[in-house]
Amino acid sequence: MLQDKDRIFTNLYGTQHWGLDAARKRGDWDGTRDLLAKGQDWIIDQMKESGLRGRGGAGFPTGLKWSFMPKESPDGRPSYLVVNADEGEPGTCKDRDMMRHDPHKLIEGCLIAGFAMRARAAYIYIRGEFHNEGNVLEAAIDEAYEAGLIGNNACGSGFDFDVYVHRGAGAYICGEETALIESLEGKKGQPRLKPPFPANVGVWGCPTTVNNVESIAVAPTILRRGADWFAGLGRPNNTGTKVFCISGHVNTPCNVEEEMGIPLKELIEKHAGGVRGGWDNLLAVIPGGSSVPLIPKSICDDVLMDFDSLKDVQSGLGTAAVIVMDKSTDIVKAIARLSEFYKHESCGQCTPCREGTGWMWRVMERLVKGEAERAEIDMLLDVSYQIEGHTICALGDAAAWPIQGLIRHFRHEIERRIDHYHAQAAE
Ligand code: SF4
Repeated sequence: MLQDKDRIFTNLYGTQHWGLDAARKRGDWDGTRDLLAKGQDWIIDQMKESGLRGRGGAGFPTGLKWSFMPKESPDGRPSYLVVNADEGEPGTCKDRDMMRHDPHKLIEGCLIAGFAMRARAAYIYIRGEFHNEGNVLEAAIDEAYEAGLIGNNACGSGFDFDVYVHRGAGAYICGEETALIESLEGKKGQPRLKPPFPANVGVWGCPTTVNNVESIAVAPTILRRGADWFAGLGRPNNTGTKVFCISGHVNTPCNVEEEMGIPLKELIEKHAGGVRGGWDNLLAVIPGGSSVPLIPKSICDDVLMDFDSLKDVQSGLGTAAVIVMDKSTDIVKAIARLSEFYKHESCGQCTPCREGTGWMWRVMERLVKGEAERAEIDMLLDVSYQIEGHTICALGDAAAWPIQGLIRHFRHEIERRIDHYHAQAAE
């Protein structure tokens, strides 16, 4: 269990003010100029050594991502940092609390990350529904400008750096990095084919790195306390701390910062008051936001909460949004509801996703009632495999994986409904 001294987000619950004075007392903006004076290469090396993997879901090593940005722009194109604050993954609500209670961690992180990547400015693309959080963030940015922490000669470093807030308009797909870039440019938010990758051709055709809020907000603390400190937490290849969002059938839903690799059972029992009705009343958990496959109780008993452990059980850490479902859950209906969500949010660019998500949802709706043939279960599985990996962006995968997880672990429940439906029809 994480000790208080190792906590990065010390104001996650808003017990103190979000403003600059309080943030400074919490250690933010402490020695930022000295960190910048150590140079771009030192910052990127430290981030690599810390082992930090992207906190938005994909888990790509952050330091390595930063190192892809050009050191010089031969054709004069500026570089940009874009922060993905379009937090729309069902079950996920961590970036929201970071921005409304601890915005200076993110702003300082923008400066340091932007400096390391020689970026001209940072654009924080915030989910449109986060109206109040956007206001807090803008007010905190104003404070940082007034104090000379960002803007021209940021922190007295000689580096000029601006930070802007851009509000989204409520499309889940704009959380995909290239759709986000399109939206930032004022176009319809539709994912781009890769390559070219954003590090080469990003926003306005310029080199761009897109990072999640949490990935950027933890960077200043990592640099202040040292890569070894962060790498010493968690497990190899799954280092550091992570903010988990625990929701669903628990007694006290919450966001909590914990060590990577904490057992799922411990996470739920220590921080969320346990499963409603006790651990034995647990049916299944979606451990990383709605896009990863569910895991049944038998796996939940022992699994560790990190990228590799969850991959080993054919699921994923994703955004670390833990959705708990007890035995009162209609598990087929729950996954059918997710299918409807992905059908609704598909941008419609590519056929497997546009047609496939709607087709899968319609089959799922029939499976909820049992109004199907047993053979359709394998047909549904087969279609999900034809969507997975065959689309422009990961929304196709995200639509396929929850269904695959359901069939993998709850095929018996689907079959029971089908048999029951046919038995009733024959009466
Ligand atoms: Fe759009 Fe879906 Fe294709 Fe992604 S996978 S680009 S959301 S149609």
